[in-house]
Amino acid sequence: TADVTVIGAGLAGSEAAWQAAEAGLSVRLFEMRPVRKTPAHRTHDFAELVCSNSLGGRALETASGLLKEELRRMGSVILRCAERTAVPAGGALGVGREEFPRLVTETVSAHPRVEVVREEVTELPDGPTVVATGPLTSEALHRRVEELSGENLYFYDAASPIIHRDSIDGSVAYLASRWGKGEASYINCPMDREEYYAFVEELRSAELSPIKDFEEDLYFEGCLPVETIARRGVDTLRFGPMRPVGLPDPRTGREPFAVVQLRQDDAEGRLFNIVGFQTRLKWGEQRRVFRTIPGLQNADFARMGVMHRNTYVPANRMLDATMKVRDSVTTAPLFFAGQLTGVEGYVESTAMGLLAGTNAARTARGESPVTLPKETMTGALADYITTKEGTLQPINSNWGLVPSVPKKENGRRVPKAERRLRQAEAALRVLDAFLDGEKVRAAV
Ligand code: FAD
Repeated sequence: TADVTVIGAGLAGSEAAWQAAEAGLSVRLFEMRPVRKTPAHRTHDFAELVCSNSLGGRALETASGLLKEELRRMGSVILRCAERTAVPAGGALGVGREEFPRLVTETVSAHPRVEVVREEVTELPDGPTVVATGPLTSEALHRRVEELSGENLYFYDAASPIIHRDSIDGSVAYLASRWGKGEASYINCPMDREEYYAFVEELRSAELSPIKDFEEDLYFEGCLPVETIARRGVDTLRFGPMRPVGLPDPRTGREPFAVVQLRQDDAEGRLFNIVGFQTRLKWGEQRRVFRTIPGLQNADFARMGVMHRNTYVPANRMLDATMKVRDSVTTAPLFFAGQLTGVEGYVESTAMGLLAGTNAARTARGESPVTLPKETMTGALADYITTKEGTLQPINSNWGLVPSVPKKENGRRVPKAERRLRQAEAALRVLDAFLDGEKVRAAV
């Protein structure tokens, strides 16, 4: 048998297998296609892109660009293959839809220490293992993972948009908690009668994003999309997620006609999600409609609302920031990677694959797994998904996760692009020091 088992040769699994093999260990990489298909994949290739052929922004001023640069510095095979098969895509890293997965398949399969097995895995193995079976994990394995987590893993997942706090207009929105209970911790955007009815009208007529094989009845009643609630009746939202009772506007002393509430989403309070606004609207429609909310006219979205079938584990209760399943859950050397960990996106999934593969290899060698510094985008993502309080919703790389740069300095407004670049440079300095220096910093 091999030193390390990797299940699923998607973006995360291919990366995990490569990292473990490069670390000198023998790897068995299981991929169920073509023996068993998924509802979205069409080929037999590893790392097939199920939708867009863009891996997101290239520039360091984008969160995805920083994540890519970090992966490049850590020797990612996915990123190397993406760069070799790049197609013109403006500021984004677009890849040849056929060429990229083919090159990943060839490169990973040709590694002398990787053995590829085309088989569906239905049980969790005992030895050092990375589970990287993605949002469309096959049913049998899905059940095993559910048993391990002790929770139902979501199917149709609707998530609310997340907004950068510094883009919310504080001259309109106000801080308050309902009935003044506890700390005033919610940001409230007040609406008068006219604004409310106009908003409901926009919501009801906005365009939805299509979903393949979508089954409406798999919604949870407690997690209905905001546009579905709006369509049930013009006043339904006003008595639901937008109810204003107990939330007087401190500037008027009166309760508004309706209120949109935002709740803090990260430990530092840089990100806020719109409460009860899980949505299936097209992204352009979300920007258009949600920016009509008073106080959100300049909203900068860290993540848009999304809905699709999605299997992911409650990483915040189940995993360490090393991607290892916590000792309190199992003593088996089991790691998770990719979208299954609660990150969202091709590059994010790859990043969690790199981390899990590295750490599975370390475990196989009898070393302790490492965490990456929280100041890096990769480390911050791993930290976020494993420490988030309450319900974990899938998260993309975004600037709210890493330390910020002041908006004003010595009386000068620091332009956004400069702030982003400085955040990226700081993250890369920390990463370089980490990689050069202690590299083997053990997880606590
Ligand atoms: P995957 O790339 O899905 O890889 C998982 C692999 O595991 C697959 O090859 C699968 O065949 C295999 N597998 C599953 N079960 C088993 C088993 N039991 N045994 C052996 N092998 C198994 N992200 C974006 O960034 N942009 C997009 O446009 C985008 N569109 C998406 C559209 C859809 C319909 C879905 C479902 C997701 C989309 N995503 C998108 C998210 C995207 O899936 C992830 O970002 C990424 O593909 C996840 O990588 P992964 O390696 O975790 O999973």
